[in-house]
Amino acid sequence: MTGRWANTLMNAVADRVWPRVCAVKECSRPSDRPGRHLCSACFAGLPFHGAEGCCSVCGIAIPSTVHHGFVCEVCAKTKPPYEFARSAVVYEPPVDQLVNDFKFRHATWLAEDLADLLEGAVRAKFDFSSIDAVVPVPLSRERLRERGYNQSALLARSLGRRINRRVDERSFRRIRDTEHQSRLSGEERSKNLSGAFKATDARYVRGRTVLLVDDVMTSGNTFAHCARALLEGGAARVWCASVARRLREG
Ligand SMILES: [Zn+2]
Ligand SMILES: [Zn+2]
Repeated sequence: MTGRWANTLMNAVADRVWPRVCAVKECSRPSDRPGRHLCSACFAGLPFHGAEGCCSVCGIAIPSTVHHGFVCEVCAKTKPPYEFARSAVVYEPPVDQLVNDFKFRHATWLAEDLADLLEGAVRAKFDFSSIDAVVPVPLSRERLRERGYNQSALLARSLGRRINRRVDERSFRRIRDTEHQSRLSGEERSKNLSGAFKATDARYVRGRTVLLVDDVMTSGNTFAHCARALLEGGAARVWCASVARRLREG
């Protein structure tokens, strides 16, 4: 009895740590990509940002053909402090499920699959050899303690290793805890983030080209507030990359 119980427990632990089937809920295929948890069919079928037009600043997809330097209405009005932002995939099924599992359900084993997406976007859309530091969007100390990990830091570490760039998790901090952004309106989000970030060690920021990394970009408010703080800390320029892009509400 004890042996059977131990066996069941071991299997449950193994399944939790090394899921043997694809991480997409509706798919029951084995994960055939070595060291990854998404099968090749699901990975290839993700809603990639394709060759369609996009805003040259925030990267939001534009359904019609647009010229190279097109700037969307929101960016024309708000003038984001970052040079530009790009994302790999659209935040729609199954990306929403994967990101939520990764972020809120401790599915940290998905870091490499999601970093595959991030790396693809960075290699295709950025002059990545000019990047001096890869910096994750930081969590507050309270949130980090609550969650146990910063999902953006896991992505930044993997990306930095792959493109051979320094990852900096020390010189840029969230100095004030903020409400969960998803519960707030656009204007509230912006107010909520004001003064939340700070470049705490200017030596590693001054004059640098910084690539900010996050899991999801929605309005771009978080990137904008981080970029502003990094520029105030002396960064030369800030670029932003996220795994997924959630379309603006409304
Ligand atoms: Zn699959
Ligand atoms: Zn834009």
